[in-house]
Amino acid sequence: LVVPGADDGPADGDGDYLDASLPVDERVDDLLGRMTIEEKIGQMTQATVGAVEAAPSDVGEYGIGSLLNGGSEALFDTPEEWAAMIDGYQDEALKSRLGIPLMYGIDAVHGNTAIPGAVVFPHNIGLGAAHDPDLAGRAAAVTAAETRAAGIHWTFAPCVCVARDSRWGRTYESYGEDPGLAFEYAGPVVHGYQGEDLAANTSVLATAKHYVGDGGTDYGSSTTGDYLLDQGVVTLTEEELRSIHLAPFQAAVDAGVGSVMASFSSTDLGEGPLKTHADEYLITDVLKGELGFDGIVVSDWQAVDQVSTDYAEAVRASVNAGIDMVMVPFEYERFISTLLSEVESGGVAEDRIDDAVARILTQKFALGLFEQPFADTAHAAEVGSDEHRDVAREAAAASQTLLRNDGDLLPLTGQESIYVAGSGADSIGRQSGGWTASWQGSTVTPTQGTTILAGIQEVASDAAVTFSEDASEPVEAADVGIVVVAEDPYAEGVGDAGAGEHDLALSEDDAAAVETVCAAVDCIVIVVSGRPVEIAPHLGEPGTPRSVDSLVAAWLPGSEGAGVADPLFGAAPYNGRLPVSWPRQTDDEPLNVGDAEYDPLFAFGFGLVTP
Ligand code: BGC
Repeated sequence: LVVPGADDGPADGDGDYLDASLPVDERVDDLLGRMTIEEKIGQMTQATVGAVEAAPSDVGEYGIGSLLNGGSEALFDTPEEWAAMIDGYQDEALKSRLGIPLMYGIDAVHGNTAIPGAVVFPHNIGLGAAHDPDLAGRAAAVTAAETRAAGIHWTFAPCVCVARDSRWGRTYESYGEDPGLAFEYAGPVVHGYQGEDLAANTSVLATAKHYVGDGGTDYGSSTTGDYLLDQGVVTLTEEELRSIHLAPFQAAVDAGVGSVMASFSSTDLGEGPLKTHADEYLITDVLKGELGFDGIVVSDWQAVDQVSTDYAEAVRASVNAGIDMVMVPFEYERFISTLLSEVESGGVAEDRIDDAVARILTQKFALGLFEQPFADTAHAAEVGSDEHRDVAREAAAASQTLLRNDGDLLPLTGQESIYVAGSGADSIGRQSGGWTASWQGSTVTPTQGTTILAGIQEVASDAAVTFSEDASEPVEAADVGIVVVAEDPYAEGVGDAGAGEHDLALSEDDAAAVETVCAAVDCIVIVVSGRPVEIAPHLGEPGTPRSVDSLVAAWLPGSEGAGVADPLFGAAPYNGRLPVSWPRQTDDEPLNVGDAEYDPLFAFGFGLVTP
C-alpha cells in the first residue's frame, strides 16, 4: 500500500485548521478538504499499541487516528512513563503530511488502574447501590485527572449497560438492572470524565458502551463461546429495547458524550439477529439520527471481524452501518487496504468516510490536541493522592448495602476482640475485581491500597483484631466474627463465583469459614462480589443459633478497604440499596420482573439503614 502525499512533509503551518481562533467546524472542514482518501481511512483506524511497537513510523505513514491498549493493562508504573511512551507515538503521528495528532485510549473504568499507584473506585454496581450519581460523577472526575496526567486522552467508560442476568460476567460494570439507574448516572459520569472543557489537563473523552442491549442477551446465544454472554443475541421487542437498553444512551448523548462503543451483541427485533456493528438502523437512524449523537462511534475489539467471515463484507457493512473508528486492533494494514478498495469500488461512499472523519477530527480539536499534542503531566503528582483516595473511600462506604441486621448487631460498638476470616478480607485484588491493572484482574495484589482487614484495623483501632483466612484458629475467644467472602476477579465471560463456572455459589473455603465462625460467635458476613452470589444456603433462619446475624453486600469496593470498615463501626451510615434483585439461586436468572413467580431473596431497592 502506497500512501500518496506521505512524502510531502508535515503541514507548512498555513492551514486554517491550525488557527485555534476559528470555530471547530470550520477547522474540520478545512482539514478534511486537504486530506487524501488514504489519510482519511488512516484516521478511522485504531490499533493496539502492541501492533505498532515493531514499526512506530507506521503511525505517521498511515496517519493512524488512534492507539489503545485494552484490558486496563498496566504497561508502566508511573504517569511520566506512560506520557513518554504516548508522546513517542504522538511524535510519529505529527510527522504525517498534515500533522494530525493521535488520540490514545484505555479502559479506565473504575480509576486509571493502568497505573498501579492510581486510586481504584468501586465498580459501577457499587456506585449504583449508593444511589448517588453526583458521587459517581466526582469519582469520574478523579479518574479523568489521573488518566490525562499520564498523557491518555480517552477512556472506554462509562458502561451504561442494563444487566438483566447476573450470570453475565459484566454485571458489575452495570449500575444495575433498572434502566433508571444507568439513565441517572450517565449524565453526571460523562460530565465527570469530560469536564467543562475537554482540552483541560484533567479531562478525558468518555465512551458510553456497549451500544445497545449488551446486558440483555439470551444465555447461551453467543456465537463465540457461551461464556461470552455479551457476544450473543438480544431478543426483544423494539419497545423493550428502547425502554430498557436505549434510554441510558439518550442521557449520555444529552450530556455530550464524545464517543459511543458498539456492542458485540446482535439484536433480534423479530426478523432474526443482526450484529449491532452492521446495524444501520440502530447506529445511524436511531443513535445518530433520533438521539442526535454527533460524536465518534467506535467498534469494540476486533468486533468488525465478527460481522462476516468475508472481511471485505464485514468492513463494508460496519462502516456503512455507521461505525466511524474501527478498533482493529492488530492487522491495521489489512483494514486500511480493505476499506480503501471498498471506497474505490463504490462499496462505501466517500461521503460516509467524510462523516466518520469529521466526527473524529471534531473530538481531536475539542481535546485541544492540535494546540497541545504532547502530554501535560502537571497533575502527575496527584495520582493516588490522599485527596483522591478520600473520594474512593467515600464511594466505597456509600455503596455498602446492609441486607440483614439481627439484633442490630451493626454498627459494632465496644467489641474488644474481632475475628476476621474469608478470602476477601486481605485481598486488594479480590476487592478490586476485573479491569484492574490487567483485563481479568488478579488475586495477587494488582494495585496499591488498603485491604478490608487493614481498614478494620484502622477504623477499630482500639480492638484486638485476629485474622485467619480459613478460620482455622480458635474463634470462640472473640467478641464478634467478620467473614469476608469473595469472588475471584474476572472480566467479560461469565466469571467463576466458586465451584462451577456457570453458577454463583460461594467457594468451598468461604462457605466453610462462614460455617465455622457463625457457629461460634455473633457474626457478620460481608460479600465482596460483582453481582449477587448464592448466599441463601449459608444464612440460616434469623435469630437461630449458627445463623448469620448481619449480612452486607460490599460489591467490588476498589482500593480503599477502609470504606467497607467505616459503616461497620458507625463512622458512616449504611445507606446502600440493591441495584439488582438478589436471587435465591442461580437458576432464578435471568431476571424476569414481569413474572408472577418472581420471588428474590432480597428485592431490588432493598437495604437497611443505620445512623
Ligand atoms: C471490551 C470493551 C473494551 C475493549 C478494549 C473489549 O473486549 O468489550 O469494553 O473497551 O475490549 O479493552
